[in-house]
Amino acid sequence: MKTTQEIFAADDKNYLPVFNRYKIALDRGDGVYVFDTEGKRYIDFLAGIAVNVLGHNYPPLVDAICSQAKKIIHCSNLYYTEAQATAAEKLVKLSGLERVFFANSGAEANEGALKIARKYAHLIDKDKSEIISAWDSFHGRTLATLTATGQPHYQEGLQPLPGGFSYVRFNDADELAAKINDRTAAVFLETIQGEGGVYPPQNDYLQKVRKLCDEHGALLILDEIQAGIGRSGKFFAYENYGIKPDIVTLAKGLAGGVPIGAFITTEKVAKAFAPGDHGTTFGGNPLACAAANIVLDTVPQEKFLQNVTRMGAYFKERLFDLQKKYPALIKEVRGTGLLLGAELYVEGRNIVNAALQEGAIINCTVGKVLRFVPPLIVNEKHIDEVVCILDNVLAQAQKH
Ligand SMILES: *Cc1c(COP(=O)(O)O)cnc(C)c1O
Repeated sequence: MKTTQEIFAADDKNYLPVFNRYKIALDRGDGVYVFDTEGKRYIDFLAGIAVNVLGHNYPPLVDAICSQAKKIIHCSNLYYTEAQATAAEKLVKLSGLERVFFANSGAEANEGALKIARKYAHLIDKDKSEIISAWDSFHGRTLATLTATGQPHYQEGLQPLPGGFSYVRFNDADELAAKINDRTAAVFLETIQGEGGVYPPQNDYLQKVRKLCDEHGALLILDEIQAGIGRSGKFFAYENYGIKPDIVTLAKGLAGGVPIGAFITTEKVAKAFAPGDHGTTFGGNPLACAAANIVLDTVPQEKFLQNVTRMGAYFKERLFDLQKKYPALIKEVRGTGLLLGAELYVEGRNIVNAALQEGAIINCTVGKVLRFVPPLIVNEKHIDEVVCILDNVLAQAQKH
């Protein structure tokens, strides 16, 4: 067994240094808490970046993974498995859409969604290929998904990028109206922008987007990799806005921590792919789907989603209280359900580091936005604990 220092040393020497890691090594989790290799406990309000929706070590999830592993972990998509058939059935029922494809990650789910949208549009008109996405979006790290990601710094040095992508301001339906045309294959948006700074759609923005897509025969693809799986208080975030996409993508929380991704679409769009047009070795394997089935049995329950809505509202109120107390530090509080952001006037990294010292794992995105994506099983006490730590940390920051 390695000591903590040996873990740091082995990783720092051998792992590709693309992550700005915090100097703790996590060892185990329990509900809303995680423990590092020194035995220190942290309350986890990042949840593996919106992944551990049922918290850590949720017994039914652990049991499902163990019993599936004892039967069969993987067998390729050349064969049927009960776990995958069941997970697909549940997602179709929940979404009101008709066809599911499982991948291993968010980026892959989006990549598949973009491919099927292009193929579908191509069958209508071979010049219909353009994808419109939003500035400040985040869609993943593959070449196509990082091209759709409207944050140029992710694209630097990686040119030439795939062609046919353009961008509009999120929440600006007029700009989209000016840009969309009959060569637009798809409009590709996060239902609620996460990584880009936690921006929910305003007013009837998504309804206007839906209408514009319909007028131009463009597909609406909603990326719910972060906002879906109950985080907004509805199973799919789009349910909050009275619209339905042609394709929705999921990943992060879908299997409670086991890698998985999915896109779900209509029968009409699904027909654009024939056998052999898309595939995956691991995607939707029985281990991942057995885990997903626990999430899909638990999160959509009315009581579960009501807790997300109630705790989201409670947490947001407490963040507003902090904003009132520290008006020179907190500029704005925003978000939906348990996808909340507090935009700061100062760099967030110091606040995140100070909170970590005090035993809370929180996150900062785009430099200045504290992003809270806790497990969906949090209660008031957990929220109070984090708010208390934030209060201490902000009080310290105010002195400097
Ligand atoms: C995290 C995220 C992705 C990428 O998911 P990966 O599993 O890291 O590939 C895509 N879209 C959104 C909205 C995300 O939050």
